[in-house]
Amino acid sequence: MFQQEEYDVIVVGAGHAGCEAAAAAANLGSKVLLVTMNMNTIAQMSCNPAMGGVAKGQIVREVDALGGQSGIVTDKTMIQFRMLNRSKGPAMWSPRAQSDRMRFAEEWRLTLEQTLNVDFWQEAVTGLLVENETIVGVKTALGVEFRSKAVVLTNGTFLNGLIHIGEKQFGGGRAAEKASSGITEQLIELGFEAGRMKTGTPPRVDGRSLDYSKMEQQPGDEVPGRFSYLDTPTLIKQRPCYITYTNPEVHEILRTGFEKSPMFQGRIKGLGPRYCPSVEDKINRFADKDRHQIFVEPEGSSTVEMYINGFSSSLPEDVQYQALRKIAGFENAKMFRPGYAIEYDFFPPTQLNLTLETKHVRNLYFAGQINGTTGYEEAACQGLMAGINAHNRVHGKQPFVLKRSEAYIGVLIDDLVNKGTDEPYRMFTSRAEHRIVLRQDNADLRLTPMGYALGLASEERMRRVEQKQRETAEVIEYLQKKSIEPTEINGLLTELGSATISEKTRAVNLLRRPNVELEHLTRHLPTLALELGQYQPDSLEQAIIAIKYESYIQKEHLQAARVGELENFVIQGRLDYKQMPALSHEAREKLLRVQPETIGQAARISGVSPADISVLMVYLGK
Ligand code: FAD
Repeated sequence: MFQQEEYDVIVVGAGHAGCEAAAAAANLGSKVLLVTMNMNTIAQMSCNPAMGGVAKGQIVREVDALGGQSGIVTDKTMIQFRMLNRSKGPAMWSPRAQSDRMRFAEEWRLTLEQTLNVDFWQEAVTGLLVENETIVGVKTALGVEFRSKAVVLTNGTFLNGLIHIGEKQFGGGRAAEKASSGITEQLIELGFEAGRMKTGTPPRVDGRSLDYSKMEQQPGDEVPGRFSYLDTPTLIKQRPCYITYTNPEVHEILRTGFEKSPMFQGRIKGLGPRYCPSVEDKINRFADKDRHQIFVEPEGSSTVEMYINGFSSSLPEDVQYQALRKIAGFENAKMFRPGYAIEYDFFPPTQLNLTLETKHVRNLYFAGQINGTTGYEEAACQGLMAGINAHNRVHGKQPFVLKRSEAYIGVLIDDLVNKGTDEPYRMFTSRAEHRIVLRQDNADLRLTPMGYALGLASEERMRRVEQKQRETAEVIEYLQKKSIEPTEINGLLTELGSATISEKTRAVNLLRRPNVELEHLTRHLPTLALELGQYQPDSLEQAIIAIKYESYIQKEHLQAARVGELENFVIQGRLDYKQMPALSHEAREKLLRVQPETIGQAARISGVSPADISVLMVYLGK
């Protein structure tokens, strides 16, 4: 052995999943080795320099609430913040940050360097050490062996990665980085099934060569928010993004490259992200549309490099360049890097338990893009969960699994493990049936107590949650008791287009009206403003959401409780599904493959009907 110590957990890969996994396991007390191919690309943002967005922002808040680091790193390095969907209900509000790409990676590296218990090793892992169907370490390209009690694989897009630009193709895990070989082949020998996916990225250009006067400016929020529930620094100087559009001339030039397109000519076999198509895919599929939106986003606070969001392409670089220059504001654009597509291996996630441990090899965990997901946020939360579970396993503690009714993280892992995915999986609010309660504003209330019980969320986080809970309850009580006279309020109600009142009314009743907000009341009623002035803005917001959406929230909680009852029916050991003729053929096949741990989990497998569940209940004697 090269270095004499045995680690508790080895994390392979320092992308978004690997960084969270290493930080979580180490902060819980495990001795961790982070092995990554290139220490200069720790937490590299492979594609867009941004964190959060619809449903993804909720995930970052959840990671933070549990005691993860992605939210803190984002807050320290963002250059613009926007709360998306403010005009919709609070379940849809989604924080999004434009990040400084280089600072983001630097901050993650500093975070890990300052985390006790994390050792680093820069090299490619080429093999896994497996004894008695249990992982015991990894082997590197130099032939170095490191031993550990658990391993978390987070190889991202690197496993047999193949980059395509026009007719050129070459091995790589990302532009200018080597692909990883050896791991897929060994896992297949160990009985794993592997698949192939693809993703793509747009060109980057020199911001000095663009004419922003021809574009629409998109500034950040006037009062920028943050991701972390801790007091991370407030963003002072924001950089704007810009919006422009493609046009028929751009499309015409792009079409000239179709005969060299790796996608249209069948050289790319893997399926790509449905909701993040390349520009050639968009003009091909929506031939009647004469323009597509392009977001021009800065790559950092001081760099001139700009990211061309919406123009992902694997057409030949000269075609990309010619087409770009026909976009309004891009007439003199200089290109820094061409866009490209990449194909890589993934492992269908139905081969995992809900802890992200593989079913074939004990103490081996998979997290991130290797599981068929796409996105930094999806990767980060899996890394966090795999890191926690690897630590818990090594230290003889209980597995940590989040339910669908508790977190987007629970929805994501449950979907992956039970339904699998054959195209890159990204999170949407529509995937979460309990989204009314899984909001970005209450991730701390939902998850920090769990993170604290695990030993990951700090005392400070827990104290803040307790304060928020206490204050929210006090504000609700105050508004339930506070009476308002018609003479005090009718003027305001008329102004807001809301019906006037004829007798004194509790504040809570006025706030239940859709067009009456707390700010209206505090601006109009000085005593109310004074009495509520002692409370934190977060507590006030929480109280108002609870009041305005009370009936929906109660309904959601009831539904979650009902579903939760099915989770209590644990399937002990292996049921012999082959001996259950009453099961449908599809259900039998899926149950055999997934081997659910509870009746609740069985019920969520696509193809398992309520009738099949009744059969299982009979076999379980329920
Ligand atoms: P990665 O961020 O890929 O990190 C993997 C890490 O593992 C790297 O540090 C690598 O060096 C290391 N590694 C790999 N193999 C080994 C080995 N054998 N030994 C040691 N270290 C190893 N997401 C979107 O949401 N939208 C997009 O449009 C989008 N486009 C993308 C375009 C491209 C070209 C690429 C490459 C990615 C794109 N992504 C996109 C995906 C996004 O980058 C990933 O989802 C996210 O980075 C996954 O995180 P991860 O931690 O799983 O893996």
